[in-house]
Amino acid sequence: MKPEVKIITCPKCGSKQQFTMYPSINAGNHELREKFIEGHLTTLVCDECGFYGVVEYPMLYHDLDEKFSLFFKPDSNERDVKLPNVLPAHLVKDIRMRLVHTQDDLREKIFIFRDKLDDRLIEVVKDSILREMEAKKEKVLPDALYYAEDRFACEGRSLVFVPKKGEEYLDPIKIPFTTYENIGKMMSGIWEREVVGYAVVDAEWVKTV
Ligand SMILES: [Zn+2]
Repeated sequence: MKPEVKIITCPKCGSKQQFTMYPSINAGNHELREKFIEGHLTTLVCDECGFYGVVEYPMLYHDLDEKFSLFFKPDSNERDVKLPNVLPAHLVKDIRMRLVHTQDDLREKIFIFRDKLDDRLIEVVKDSILREMEAKKEKVLPDALYYAEDRFACEGRSLVFVPKKGEEYLDPIKIPFTTYENIGKMMSGIWEREVVGYAVVDAEWVKTV
């Protein structure tokens, strides 16, 4: 699918300008991928008044090297969607297909798969971090955690998550990589489930055993 140029009207000053939409992004195009991750492809900046706002539209993001394909569908609560023939048939069985509804979720999936982690297990790990925070009666309980990076430092390997409360991102939380591995072994029955088609794998998915 080729990029489409649309004429968009600035909601603040009414001036019209061109905006390029990318219905499909291939991660092999590094420049486009970086622009997307930084949010430049989904932000309209008005040439006249400097107003900026997010422009969201359905988008497919493929990374055939890391073997995943994401379908971003804003303003939807669907748990799975059928997208016929968007991937070559011989690749479909090896590709992890996921449906996401927010840009936070989309970026998180890109980071998880980039770091060669399993998003199903990441959801179980996030669930257990949140439960522990709740049990400890921590003052600020985030609404969600987003996986951000796999960090190697002198104290060892750890996974970093960014908590979000309302619209605010809080200080990152770090857990040892061994916690990820141990939870993986202990909870294998919970997360080692097949995901069929473009489906949502999130906190709710963990609970639907
Ligand atoms: Zn404007």
